[in-house]
Amino acid sequence: MSEVQILQRVNAFLKRQHGHFIDGEMCASVGRAQVEIVNPTTEQVIAHIAIGNQTDVEHAVQSAHQAFIGAWAQTSPYERGLKLNKLADLIEQHGEELAQLETLTTGKLINLARHLEVAQSVIFLRYFASWSTKINGQTMQPSIPSMQGEKYTAFTLRQPIGVVGGIVPWNFSLMIGVWKIGSALTTGCSIVLKPSEFTTLSLLRLAELAIEAGIPKGVINVVTGKGETGQHLIESPLVKKVSFTGSVPTGMAIGKLAMSCDLTRVSLELGGKNAAAILADADLDQVLPTLLQATFVHQGQVCAAPERFFVHRSKYAEFIEKITAALQQIKVGSPLDESSMFGPLSNQVHFEKVKHYLDLAKQNNQVIAGGRVLEGTGYFVEPTLLSVTGTEDPLFIEETFGPVVDVIAFDDEEELISMMNHSRFGLTASLWTNDLSKALRMIPQIEAGTLWINMHTFLDPAVPFGGMKASGIGREFSDAFIDDYTELKSVMIRY
Ligand code: NDP
Repeated sequence: MSEVQILQRVNAFLKRQHGHFIDGEMCASVGRAQVEIVNPTTEQVIAHIAIGNQTDVEHAVQSAHQAFIGAWAQTSPYERGLKLNKLADLIEQHGEELAQLETLTTGKLINLARHLEVAQSVIFLRYFASWSTKINGQTMQPSIPSMQGEKYTAFTLRQPIGVVGGIVPWNFSLMIGVWKIGSALTTGCSIVLKPSEFTTLSLLRLAELAIEAGIPKGVINVVTGKGETGQHLIESPLVKKVSFTGSVPTGMAIGKLAMSCDLTRVSLELGGKNAAAILADADLDQVLPTLLQATFVHQGQVCAAPERFFVHRSKYAEFIEKITAALQQIKVGSPLDESSMFGPLSNQVHFEKVKHYLDLAKQNNQVIAGGRVLEGTGYFVEPTLLSVTGTEDPLFIEETFGPVVDVIAFDDEEELISMMNHSRFGLTASLWTNDLSKALRMIPQIEAGTLWINMHTFLDPAVPFGGMKASGIGREFSDAFIDDYTELKSVMIRY
């Protein structure tokens, strides 16, 4: 199959001199340094972005602050919802353009970019927009005794927290950026986004679409750059909340920094070493297609995807035989070729990290299937299944964030739960079984923010998402995000 044709407006966008998006327009960076944007399929430099310094960040934060106290504060909740819905319409209309930008910068399969990243961005944004008119306080009856016939009443207000600093990783930059925009804007906050240095372009384009959607200038700003740019954002006194998605070490550093900046609110969506447990009654022919898709989607570079398979010993041999055969059918190729099933890793730094884990597995004869780094251009590795030496094996413990998953047999429920919970992470987990009683007994014992039965890696705007243990603090989606983006003000009245 041939590759999809890159749209003219995508080529034109790549060629632009990119700055930051501040106060409703693209503006030149004060910071002079630049980063190259590399296509992970071709290893060619396709664009350059600016590295924002403290002055750039302050400019963006000031713009967001003015918009917060000015235009956005004057916009009614109903109008906020309308504008977010309009932005969702524009994302849909520009879907192919945004999908191509994502594929060129992340190596994501074009159909995944179209049907997951862009399509889900639209669905999530419309969901958030629907909350704008439903963010309310409560009334309550105080317990203070009345001594002289006076009465008391009380109520709470939910007030937007102010300027949000949103720091976004490289795996789903558009969609995760949209989650942060949707949460901030629907509650009445404004936002400054710092995308990953590897995948900045789709959010820069999105910020332009936001102006077309009628979102007032300054409400959404994008400052590009590396980790240091993100640090300046957290340190800015006008940033009242940091919403971070990324790795555990960076998340911990950000949490500490935010606390030291006058207790800036912070929510952290971090990594995982997620478990998928296949119980004795599972029908492997039914389980495997769904499990494989959930595991190797976007080359395994999904925080929620499983990296540890636990298989009941009675099914272990059959599982290994069938999954090995299935992995051999996965067609690795250019992400712009619509028939490819598996593309490259997203950037060279990550490619080196995954290669390190593959080398480790090869040294110890742990490769069951896959394991090769593909020769030639591009950051390609095979989808890989490994055995582990035990629960202290680094391959069992450390997040690879790649298409590398290990498998271990278990004998009974107690052993299974103990091994599943043997991790500093607690993001997601799944049970594959039709034994409802067993599943219901196990659910409370599994340490994970999200637990799926007969599915994995599905996020939905109506269902809260976030991690336990070192996988994070806070919950996104549903009504759970409202707490994080608003201050709860209590009012008591004596009359
Ligand atoms: P990183 O933690 O390396 O980076 C995330 C973002 O933080 C990037 O924008 C990065 O910029 C920025 N950053 C890096 N250092 C600092 C710093 N000191 N101060 C402020 N900002 C900083 O994660 P990755 O981008 O590599 O993403 C992969 C990780 O994200 C995985 O661990 C994955 O599990 C996790 N993740 C979690 C999700 C969840 O919802 N729980 C969802 C998606 C990913 P730059 O890239 O320019 O260095």
